[in-house]
Amino acid sequence: MKFLGPLLAVLTVLATAMLGAQTYAPYGAATAVGMALGAASIAAMSLALVLAARPSPIERLFGGLDRMYGMHKWLGIAALALMIGHNTLEPDLEDVVRETRVGEFASDLGEVALNGFIGLLLISWIKRIPFTRLELPWPIWRFSHRFTGLLFAVVAFHQLAVDQPAGIDGTLGLSLNAFSLAGLAAWLYTQWIAPFVRPRTFMLERVNRHGAVTELTLRPEGQAMRWQAGQFAFVSATGAGMAEPHPFTIASAPDASGRLRFGIKALGGWTRRLPQRLAPGQRLRIEGPYGRFVFRKRVRRQVWLAGGIGITPFLAWAEALTDADRQDITLVWAVATRAEAFAADRLAAMAARHPRLTVHIVASAEDGRLTARRLAERVAFPLRESQLFYCGPAGLRDAIVSGLEAMGQRPRRVHSEAFELR
Ligand SMILES: Cc1cc2nc3c(=O)[nH]c(=O)nc-3n(C[C@H](O)[C@H](O)[C@H](O)COP(=O)(O)OP(=O)(O)OC[C@H]3O[C@@H](n4cnc5c(N)ncnc54)[C@H](O)[C@@H]3O)c2cc1C
Repeated sequence: MKFLGPLLAVLTVLATAMLGAQTYAPYGAATAVGMALGAASIAAMSLALVLAARPSPIERLFGGLDRMYGMHKWLGIAALALMIGHNTLEPDLEDVVRETRVGEFASDLGEVALNGFIGLLLISWIKRIPFTRLELPWPIWRFSHRFTGLLFAVVAFHQLAVDQPAGIDGTLGLSLNAFSLAGLAAWLYTQWIAPFVRPRTFMLERVNRHGAVTELTLRPEGQAMRWQAGQFAFVSATGAGMAEPHPFTIASAPDASGRLRFGIKALGGWTRRLPQRLAPGQRLRIEGPYGRFVFRKRVRRQVWLAGGIGITPFLAWAEALTDADRQDITLVWAVATRAEAFAADRLAAMAARHPRLTVHIVASAEDGRLTARRLAERVAFPLRESQLFYCGPAGLRDAIVSGLEAMGQRPRRVHSEAFELR
């Protein structure tokens, strides 16, 4: 299912390109190719904006919001490349159109939009400044990203108003108008409507601190949220510098009270401010649920591997286990020191309740770094007969998976959650 969304997106862009080429074929090959590239660019941009609106019904076609954002990013990059191609070929229709002032203005605006997009998409694409350890601060990245909708409006005007040959088939124009409308509507919704209609209000009940990790327990005010263990939500609080929504996994299993628990590690500005700025009784805004990193009941042998704060989805999965669950599960939690394992007691209690769940905490300061061999020693069944579920830094996952491969113990499938959305 997770390939269906990307496949449909690619096919849509290709079909638009073909329609562009077919429509302008009578005006020469260079013009046809140039117009095909321009049309495909509009389709890609429009789809990118639609995906950025986080339409949850289609999330599963992409295998989760993180992957949907991945597709959004590639569509943006493709749109820019196609736009550069369109501009370079500069379809020449001067001899076949009756030039108007509006058309000329629209044509010039196309150039403005291109330059704006190059700037914005470079900012969006380059997360880390090349050859340095400097990261573009998220608020700047996000602020700059807001302008893509405005530039798309310029592109929409360009395609609508630019002079066209008389008697040309209107199907392409209609399709591009539909893409323009969809992209603009998605952008307006994302920027001006969603922030007010999507989040629900929760009351902060408890704040527990464990070193760098703060646990929040929230009670719904009004309608509760329905979620699956392992999904995540965007958390924000009005005022006090906490208004920017940040994604966090709901670290508890769904229950009748609708309470949510989050385990949040101080990793940057927002998460460091959190322990001082939030107190019980405060109202928080929660938007979600999102994500497809959910417990797979049908997999008989499962290895859950967590790196540091990547334990949060597994806390929810473990809490959601019932007596009917007959899977063999080994959870290995890699932490720097034992003191960092803030949920160790809770996990031990869950393992006591479920004899088929085994929990190992590997603290690198005391036990040495977690390696593929050390992982295999802790799993009671052959790893190659299991599926590996991973949440944590990508480096640890890659090292473990290649180590297991070298040992001839590569798990049947590796699923992982990226704590990363851009
Ligand atoms: C699906 C998902 C689930 C997550 N679950 C957890 C969890 O359970 N516990 C936990 O401690 N952390 C979790 N994270 C990571 C958490 O979202 C970031 O650590 C946090 O947003 C950092 O914000 P900051 O402003 O403190 O740090 P910054 O230094 O400003 O940001 C650090 C990095 O976090 C990301 N980030 C920052 N702001 C946002 C934002 N508004 N939206 C999206 N990403 C942002 C960016 O990649 C940025 O480079 C999760 C992330 C994702 C994507």
